[in-house]
Amino acid sequence: MKELKERILRDGKCFGGGILKVDNFINHLMDPILMRKMAKELVRRFSDHQINKVMTIEASGIAPAIMVGDYLNVPVLFAKKRTPSTMENMLVTEVFSFTKNQSYSVCVSGDYLTSNDRILFIDDFLANGNAAKGILDLVEQAGATLEGMGFLIEKGFQSGGEQLRRMGIHIESLAIIDNLDNCTITLR
Ligand code: 5GP
Repeated sequence: MKELKERILRDGKCFGGGILKVDNFINHLMDPILMRKMAKELVRRFSDHQINKVMTIEASGIAPAIMVGDYLNVPVLFAKKRTPSTMENMLVTEVFSFTKNQSYSVCVSGDYLTSNDRILFIDDFLANGNAAKGILDLVEQAGATLEGMGFLIEKGFQSGGEQLRRMGIHIESLAIIDNLDNCTITLR
């Protein structure tokens, strides 16, 4: 998506270890106009799917996910990174965090993710695909159907995208970064 790519080149900053910082329009200060356009484009790319629920993981996936849910007119379920004592019928999985270099549990209530659901997963970044695989595990535990996964930014030099596409999952990314070496952003 041209507008996102231009914004990444203008405002994105590279950090060591292959991390791209976009906290002045996605991850901290958020640009709702761009966010809405990105959501609209993701919805267009999944228009041949029957989706009745959007899923994401807190916190950074929530903003794009809720805008996608608004366009699709479906509810948005975010997986929680803490396991609340009040949650009933809990489904849990483990996710390894690329940016924090540690594993954590994520959970959703089986009251809100059921075998009737046809899920579109939305997240800000696709790196090694660990968050995405965690969501896939929750979807499978619930007996729901995964329709596809949409990301704002995919880091093509990490293996998540290739692994998930090889599994036959419909993956869409609005911008793919081929390289962050020497702190230079190279887009596909
Ligand atoms: P994965 O699970 O695919 O390895 O990593 C995806 C998750 O890690 C995303 O939810 C995102 O929050 C975070 N992440 C991975 N790489 C980056 C990055 O380069 N920049 C930022 N801001 N977040 C990232």
